[in-house]
Order: sequence, then C-alpha cells, then structure tokens
Amino acid sequence: MRVVLIGFRGTGKTETGRLLSRLTAVPFLDTDAMIEASAGMTIHEIFHREGEEGFRAREREVIRALSPGDAVIGTGGGAILDPVNVALLRKGSTMVLLEADEAVIEKRIAASTRPPLTTHPLREEIHELLELRRPLYAAAADFRIDTSLKSQNEVVLVIRKFLDEGTVPRQARESLVSFLEGSGIPDSEVAEARILTDVDLWDPRTRLYAIAGYPATQSRSPLLFNRLFKHYGLSCHYLRFQDPDLSRILRLADETDLRGLSVTIPFKQEILSTLTDVEVHANAIGAVNTVVRCGTRRFGYNTDWIGIREPLSDHRGEKAVVLGAGGAAAAAVYALLSLDMEVTILNRTVEKAASMAERFGCSYGPPSAFDRLDPAVVVNATPVGMEPELKSPLQKHQLRSTMTVFDLVYTPPETPLLRIARNSRCQTIPGTEMFVRQAAAQFRHFTGIAPPLDLIRSAM
Ligand code: NAP
Repeated sequence: MRVVLIGFRGTGKTETGRLLSRLTAVPFLDTDAMIEASAGMTIHEIFHREGEEGFRAREREVIRALSPGDAVIGTGGGAILDPVNVALLRKGSTMVLLEADEAVIEKRIAASTRPPLTTHPLREEIHELLELRRPLYAAAADFRIDTSLKSQNEVVLVIRKFLDEGTVPRQARESLVSFLEGSGIPDSEVAEARILTDVDLWDPRTRLYAIAGYPATQSRSPLLFNRLFKHYGLSCHYLRFQDPDLSRILRLADETDLRGLSVTIPFKQEILSTLTDVEVHANAIGAVNTVVRCGTRRFGYNTDWIGIREPLSDHRGEKAVVLGAGGAAAAAVYALLSLDMEVTILNRTVEKAASMAERFGCSYGPPSAFDRLDPAVVVNATPVGMEPELKSPLQKHQLRSTMTVFDLVYTPPETPLLRIARNSRCQTIPGTEMFVRQAAAQFRHFTGIAPPLDLIRSAM
C-alpha cells in the first residue's frame, strides 16, 4: 500500500498520515519533516534564508529521493504545484486529497509558526492560495475527503474504505459495461472494459476517464491516454462514451465517479452550463473540451486553443484567415487574437462568420473573399479534407510561398490542403500538432503531470 496525502495546510495530512501508518503498519514519510532534517533548519529558517524558491528546490530533491514501496507519504501544501513532483508521487500510489472549509483551515493553522506565502492577512492568504491551487489539487487526486467535520479516526476509515472498495459500486460498473456494449464503439474496447466487472481483475483503486461525444469513434484519445496512464504507472482507465444525449453521459459519469472527461462534438458548448468552475479561456471561447471532476466541483477548460497557439507563436501580429465558424474556429480565432494577429473569418454560412466576428471583434466574409486578403497565416477549421472525403478547401492558385498553412484536420496526417501548400512551398503545420499539444494540456489537467510532446507523439 502506497498512499500519498495531498492538500492545503490545516487539512490534517500529518495527523492522518501518522494514524493511517500506525493502523496499517507501513512507514510514514513526511516530506516537510524530511526537508527540515536534511537541511538542518526549520522550514521557517529555510524560507527566511533561501526564500520559497530554495524551499521548493529542497522539496523536489526530497520527493525525488523517496524510497519506493509501501508507505504513507504526507506532502507539503504546495508540493503538487510542480508537475515533476506529481509524476514522481503518483507512480504506483493512490493520491488522497484532504480538504477543509476555509474557516476551518484558518482556525487550525492560526497558531502555526510556518512562514506566510503572501503579504495578506491569513484569511485572505488562505482564500487566494486555495483559488489558485484547487484545480491543481483536483488534478493530482485520485480520491478526495472533506475533513472539516470529521475526526482523524473517521478520515482514516474513509481512506481505508477507498483503498479496499473504491468509489465505483459493482452495479454502476455493470450498467457502464451494458451502456458500452450498446453504444457502437469497437468490440475490442468493450472487451477491455469488461475488466470492470471481473471480480478477480478489477482493482478498486482504478480511476475512470472518458471521452464524451457523438460520434466519438474517430477519437484517438482512448488509445493515447491509456498509453500515457501506463507510462506514468497510474491506475487509471480511459473509456469512450458515445451517445447523442449529454445528460445520459453525465449520469454515467456521476454513477462511476468519473475523474475526467474529454468533450468533443457536439457537446463542447452544451457542457458549459453543467460546470461549477470554468476557466477564463474556455469562457471567452464559449466551449469546453476538458472536464475534471472532484467532489462536488466540475472544472471546465479549453485546451484546443493552446494546440493552435503554440505552433504559431512565431507569427505574432501577422494577418490571418480562419476557414470555418464552428467550435474549432472559435478556439483558432481566440488563439490568433492572443498573438495580436489581424483575423478574418471566412465561412460558407456567412451569418455564422458574422456573429463570431462580432463576438471576437474581427472581420468576416464568404470563402470567396480569400483571394483579396493575401494572409500570412491560414487556418483550416472546417472538416473539409478529413477522411474519407479527401478534398481541399483552397486551390493551388490561391496559395503563396509566403503563407503558413495550418490544417486542423488530422486524419489523414497530410491532408489535400497540406499537400498543395507543401507543393507551393508554404510553411505547413499538420493537425496532429494541435492534437498533440491540446492532449498534453488535457493530460496535465487530468493528472497534474505534464507529459513531453515527444512522449505523446510516440504514444500515438
Ligand atoms: P463544427 O463546429 O461542426 O464546425 C464546422 C465548420 O466547418 C462550420 O463553420 C461549417 O460551416 C464548416 N464546414 C463544414 N463542412 C463544410 C464544407 N463541406 N465546406 C465548407 N465548410 C464546411 O466542427 P469543429 O468542432 O469546429 O471542427 C472542425 C474540424 O476541426 C474537425 O473536422 C476536425 O477535423 C478539426 N479539429 C481538429 C482538432 C485537432 O486536435 N487537430 C481538434 C478539434 C477539431 P457551416 O457553418 O456553414 O456549417
């Protein structure tokens, strides 16, 4: 048994860790105590002499040097800020997040001699740090307990129940498998999911993730995320939820205590109203493609725009055209505007281009307007070029060697548009670049671990 306790100061990590360790006869490792012992200084002294940066460097070293095997590990409140720490801590472990109301935390730590991390009064510091850290705790946690009204004994009992039984009852796993059987997903995925109802093979600590869409069979996310989970030694399984009814998918997510959901067509807008916390970028784009579930919170993010912005970061201030006015186009427009580009949206249904242009404050027109615009950057955000109908939204005579052409379509990896653009000596960016980057950002929201892009490329 290897359990890592994470959470803010004052949520009871040390006392819970000691008690759990005593009752299960495995060693208790407290990273803060280990840092003090190796530095020969108190945490207060380390902060005073070396600042927070010095403390975090020491914390990284201690986490890196933790011996493998059975243990209960208590961590400092900020340990999970570093994705490298999270990857090290998560390997072969069950991560338990301890939470408490802000007022309870304040009462518990008021007399502490630990150094403050901001210049604000304690109550404000707690609120401010929790606002920042809550999504990071949610990402790194397998299970979560509110300790506000619980004794240490009760908290330890809940943890032991998680470890022994998990949080997905057998009946919920059975109805999940029946749902998958009738959903039209590949037989091989249904067969793999039958492990959920296998008494001998099911590990109750396994946490579930899924993609929600209709259709969802085209997505490569199940393959990719399951490979990444394996790579990082996480007891997690990623499924495909294909259904036209989002409320049915969300009911399944509740019943199976799903940790994370990738969201695709047609639910990216509809899901917004079901979330408790929507990050600023997703709100501005008006679409969510990533949901993290933790306790009663539902965090929503958009990582599509990151996948479009990063490959174009050298094109700041240039003139750009976005083809299409759907969900991917909104993420593209937001990404290009964040790079101070001058953006025109061209769409066959011009009214949709007009309303998106009004929302973002840019220009619009019909596809035929392309030739008089002479853009430096072209982003195809229509499905034109996607298998099996291999067509190009632009013709060879419309392209110049000065253009950078980014096709968001990623099946096939080289679309007809990219082939024509390559032959016209344009710089080309394939849709796989967007996929890889948005997936890396999504995996970080799901797990707190930041995978390198090359790992994702090779996993695909
Ligand atoms: P969407 O919301 O359905 O929007 C599709 C847009 O394309 C609409 O503006 C639509 O025009 C236009 N369109 C559709 N068929 C067309 C055609 N035959 N000719 C001209 N315009 C056409 O879809 P989306 O979510 O934005 O996705 C668009 C594409 O982006 C997807 O097909 C996918 O290949 C790609 N994508 C890639 C990634 C990645 O990771 N690489 C991620 C997300 C999406 P109307 O308004 O006139 O209907």
